[in-house]
Amino acid sequence: MLLLTLLLAVAVFILLAFFRATVLSWLLAFMVIVPVVAIQARLSQTVIQVVYFLLVSCVILFGIPVLRRKLVSAALLKLYRRILPVISATEQEAIDAGSVWWDGELFSGHPNWDKLLAYPKCGLSADEQDFLDNEVEALCSMLDDWDITHNLADLPESVWQYIRERGFFGMIIPKEYGGLGFSAQAHSAVIAKIASRSGTAAVTVMVPNSLGPAELLLHYGTDEQKEKYLRRLARGQEVPCFALTGPFAGSDAGAIPDYGILCRGEFDGKMNVLGVRLNWEKRYITLAPKATLLGLAFKLYDPDGLLGDEVNRGITLALIPSGTEGVRIGRRHFPMNSAFLNGPTEGKEVFIPLEFIIGGAARIGQGWRMLMECLASGRSISLPASSVGGMKMAARTSGAYCRVRKQFNLPIGQFEGVEEALARIGAHTYMTDAARGFTALALDMGEKPSVISAIIKYHSTERGRCVINDAMDVHGGKGISLGPDNYLARTYQQVPIGITVEGANILTRALMIFGQGAIRSHPYVLKEVQASGEADHDKALRLFDDALFGHVGFVLSNAARSLVFGLTGGRGIHVPRGVVCRRYYQQMTRFSSAFALSADLAMAVLNGSLKRREKISARLGDVLSLLYLCSATMKRFADDGRPSSDLPLVHWAMQDAFYRMQQALGGVIQNFPNLFIRCMLRVLIFPLGKRINPPSDRLGHEVARLLMTPGEARDRLTLGMYIPKDETQAIGALEAALLCTLECEPLQAELVAAHRSGKLSAMEELQRILEARDIGLISEEQVRLLKRDHALRRKVIMVDDFDHRELQRP
Ligand SMILES: Cc1cc2nc3c(=O)[nH]c(=O)nc-3n(C[C@H](O)[C@H](O)[C@H](O)COP(=O)(O)OP(=O)(O)OC[C@H]3O[C@@H](n4cnc5c(N)ncnc54)[C@H](O)[C@@H]3O)c2cc1C
Repeated sequence: MLLLTLLLAVAVFILLAFFRATVLSWLLAFMVIVPVVAIQARLSQTVIQVVYFLLVSCVILFGIPVLRRKLVSAALLKLYRRILPVISATEQEAIDAGSVWWDGELFSGHPNWDKLLAYPKCGLSADEQDFLDNEVEALCSMLDDWDITHNLADLPESVWQYIRERGFFGMIIPKEYGGLGFSAQAHSAVIAKIASRSGTAAVTVMVPNSLGPAELLLHYGTDEQKEKYLRRLARGQEVPCFALTGPFAGSDAGAIPDYGILCRGEFDGKMNVLGVRLNWEKRYITLAPKATLLGLAFKLYDPDGLLGDEVNRGITLALIPSGTEGVRIGRRHFPMNSAFLNGPTEGKEVFIPLEFIIGGAARIGQGWRMLMECLASGRSISLPASSVGGMKMAARTSGAYCRVRKQFNLPIGQFEGVEEALARIGAHTYMTDAARGFTALALDMGEKPSVISAIIKYHSTERGRCVINDAMDVHGGKGISLGPDNYLARTYQQVPIGITVEGANILTRALMIFGQGAIRSHPYVLKEVQASGEADHDKALRLFDDALFGHVGFVLSNAARSLVFGLTGGRGIHVPRGVVCRRYYQQMTRFSSAFALSADLAMAVLNGSLKRREKISARLGDVLSLLYLCSATMKRFADDGRPSSDLPLVHWAMQDAFYRMQQALGGVIQNFPNLFIRCMLRVLIFPLGKRINPPSDRLGHEVARLLMTPGEARDRLTLGMYIPKDETQAIGALEAALLCTLECEPLQAELVAAHRSGKLSAMEELQRILEARDIGLISEEQVRLLKRDHALRRKVIMVDDFDHRELQRP
């Protein structure tokens, strides 16, 4: 009987936790259960009285908010203030920057899927679509990436001119300043399309539209600065760059040694001008070699007190015309055989007037915050778009190539080993493109999602790396031999650039995604931190008490939910009406609860040391990221009208993501430094063990077949990439070869059968075609078709060769 009561009690407590019951409901449950247990356990009257006394004390202590705050929360607040890890000023500004969007739902342990599906669909306006179909299409047709990267080491002047004149540099500049005023969605689509044709052109277009002078001026520039520069930037009359990184400050950009001293000097013939004398040494700066307008980050000092008492004024940003005396630009780095302009810049004792500071004197010292705030938009668009452009190109060409290229008398895509690679290529491209569009949607909804920007930057470039590696593998020597007909190798070579810039990936995964998310996107942590920093004691106590007890309920609830969902595999969780992939929504909710629980325990137990425990932080970040990618995938599938032909891609991507989440959480638990928590997490999250499998071979086969078969699913997957119609170009020929191969398949089978049976004796394919015609096996029309197929296949299979001297540098 007692055992039954105890089990019942546990069930009641799990239910209370599951439904996030109030403090009073908990106390009420204790008031009923504890005496029953005490009586059944035949405890003495004295013990029962003590139990009652304790219970009543708890009711008074926790149930009456005024008392709870004074007697419990005040002591805990004191302790909290003592153990709160030190957050540096730059970290604080990074945390404060941007906004929380869907990441907040994922941190909640209970995401609202109706809300996800109710977000608007990703789409373009008529003007934007027109620009893509005309200007971008025309630009792509002008780009010869081999000529650009191998011969010219730059874009041809005609392309520079076209880019400038057609407003490509002003996509983010509003129409009132002569820019295109595009949505994030359109901006992203433009970059993706260009990137599917030429990485060099994509980088050239994306940098002025990313974190740089235009973006900074739009948000922080003075009216005069906006008037002076935005129109010129929009028309391409200025080529901008932005210089933050230097030889001695890379990932730790807040540590830049470049400095400026406030002083008076001579400028433009005027004496005694209040300004800054600057010294800097920067490197890796994209577009710097041709820039006319240099955005510069430096630390500003005011030793003579010209603007007040503070000597160290902090990181400040300025816009400096590159013709200013003392500015040195022009030399080039050579990043991975790309031809976009990138190089160092230096300045010694360069004097600039105060009005060169972005936002003027009022913005002195706010540079880091300005950069952090703007980083979210740039990072959410440029790199995801360029990665996805490359992935689409790799997916479309790999599918076609694997169908056209035969070995052992079979298209290579029919070999299971190649299928594995094709499955990854297709599904990663689908999921990453979904996340690209979903993130651009956030920006168009007015968000500046800092945590999501780190997620999408990291995962789009990593998945891009995986896809292009697989594409290279399935192309064999075709991918390796450089030349005008190689459409893959330059994209492959450029992968590390996206991995390194705008927050190098190892750092982004290890420190930023979870590190920032844990504070920023968590429903209570930021409130607790803010409450602990509140100067007014009563207000601090009230806010802290609310956050703390909300947080306790949140943790208990996630513990109960993790356990229940772990036992049921998430079955029974409410999902939006009419959805096709019900189980995936349930699995996402299950993992969201498990993630929220592990995140809280990691923060509570590891506290300040979590910063150093990058491997734990990285794995937690992986779970958060995968939940984000899965949400985007479900959203995309729903927005596309849930076409059944896309299901292989959706299933593979989702199942792979759940398997990865399981492994990541398993890794957190296995490496958790506290034995008790380790065991507890294992029981709560995986009570029946790790039961999720990776996608099956059969599913992989379906994805591979989808990539190799012309049709709506393949077209949807690669929508927005540039496909040349000209069959003299490598990708144009590949497209035609795929169609022709499929059309000729029955004829080819007939020829093979005739050859085997001895009806045809010619050894060489073209001769055999003619022989077949001569014996009346095929018609003239069929001869033409087979000859075309042969020519196209040959064009696809052949690689470029060069005269020895052509490859030698003059
Ligand atoms: C082609 C190219 C274009 C660029 N364009 C610009 C530009 O226009 N403007 C500009 O200002 N900068 C630009 N950059 C600079 C770029 O942002 C930096 O390269 C980047 O910040 C990394 O700095 P770093 O190369 O010095 O590497 P490092 O900072 O030396 O990092 C090396 C490795 O250590 C890892 N790491 C560092 N700290 C940690 C940590 N705490 N935890 C885990 N891992 C860590 C990094 O992830 C990386 O893998 C560009 C760089 C390149 C290569």
